Amino acid sequence: MNTLVLKVDPDKPDAAKIEVAAQIIKRGGLVAFPTETVYGLGADALNGEAVLRLFEAKKRPLDNPPILHVAEVRDVYPLVAEVSQKAEQLMKQFWPGPLTVVFKHSAIVPKESTAGLDTVAIRMPKHPVAAALIRQSKRPIAAPSANLSGKPSPTTAQHVYEDLNGRIDAIIDGGAADIGVESTVVDLSCDPPLLLRPGGTPFEALKAVLGDLQLHPFVQAESEIPVEKARSPGMMHKHYAPKAQVMIVEGNVEAVIGKIKQLAAEYKEKNAKVAVLATDETQAAYRAYVVRSMGSRHNLSTVASSLFRLLREVDAEGVDVILAESVPQEGIGLAVMNRLRKASGYHIIKA
Ligand code: AMP
Ligand code: MG
Repeated sequence: MNTLVLKVDPDKPDAAKIEVAAQIIKRGGLVAFPTETVYGLGADALNGEAVLRLFEAKKRPLDNPPILHVAEVRDVYPLVAEVSQKAEQLMKQFWPGPLTVVFKHSAIVPKESTAGLDTVAIRMPKHPVAAALIRQSKRPIAAPSANLSGKPSPTTAQHVYEDLNGRIDAIIDGGAADIGVESTVVDLSCDPPLLLRPGGTPFEALKAVLGDLQLHPFVQAESEIPVEKARSPGMMHKHYAPKAQVMIVEGNVEAVIGKIKQLAAEYKEKNAKVAVLATDETQAAYRAYVVRSMGSRHNLSTVASSLFRLLREVDAEGVDVILAESVPQEGIGLAVMNRLRKASGYHIIKA
């Protein structure tokens, strides 16, 4: 398959190019597109065969459901059994934006779009390209991240190209995705509501609106959780993993720096190529083969926005070991730490 690349202005996408992509979606094809979180790989969510092709292209396990993307709040109603008052509040306050809400689904949603669960996950993205594509396709778009399953999520069209060229119909190139981690997933099909995945919308902001909001134990897990504890089977799959072994060093900043220096020296001794993922405030402390800053400790959105790109870039340098600093689990830091821990396969070292 020849993958078409459509380059657009992220703020004012060319309607003719979006129309080309919308036609591909309508006839059951696959289009990667930018959102404000990461790039998504889209298919017509109401066409089970198209959604199945999406799983094949990504080599994604069939038990990991995609998120359905809509252009308007009113597009949610036909897809769900019921919209609670809490759901209305969340949609009003946080949409369009990086928040996914899990509802009981209606009969029109094919099983491919829910992985056979009785629930469906829905989000309304803010990115003008994503919004235009959904609007012009005139249907909800099922879109998991546009990477090969298990790889770090793509934040640029180039990342999508590296993973999926030849496997999908088109990529809309609308520049870099700025949040850099996926949406926050909140399950409102249970009471009290449950945060299943931390992401671009902070837990604290959601809790302020909902009152009671529980964190699924998986969110801050420091080791693999038994499968039967997962609410969504997709939670369990290996994710975000570069080829190199990632290790995350957790503790207060001074102790973390000391521990990483010690580990870097030990690995160097064994002739391993070491990369350190540091922060603006700490990077000068290290002398490894590769040292990169993820962003500032005083502005964790900078860390979120570079994290997946750095995991790919450092991996491309052919390193054997990646030693990453931990960051505080507040605001978007909760999502950053969740992704880093998963990327490390829970190889966590306490400093
Ligand atoms: P991805 O699209 O790769 O970022 O992953 C989509 C994620 O959305 C899944 O891995 C789940 O965590 C979540 N998700 C999608 N549908 C559901 C659902 N029906 N119930 C719970 N979580 C869901
Ligand atoms: Mg993904």
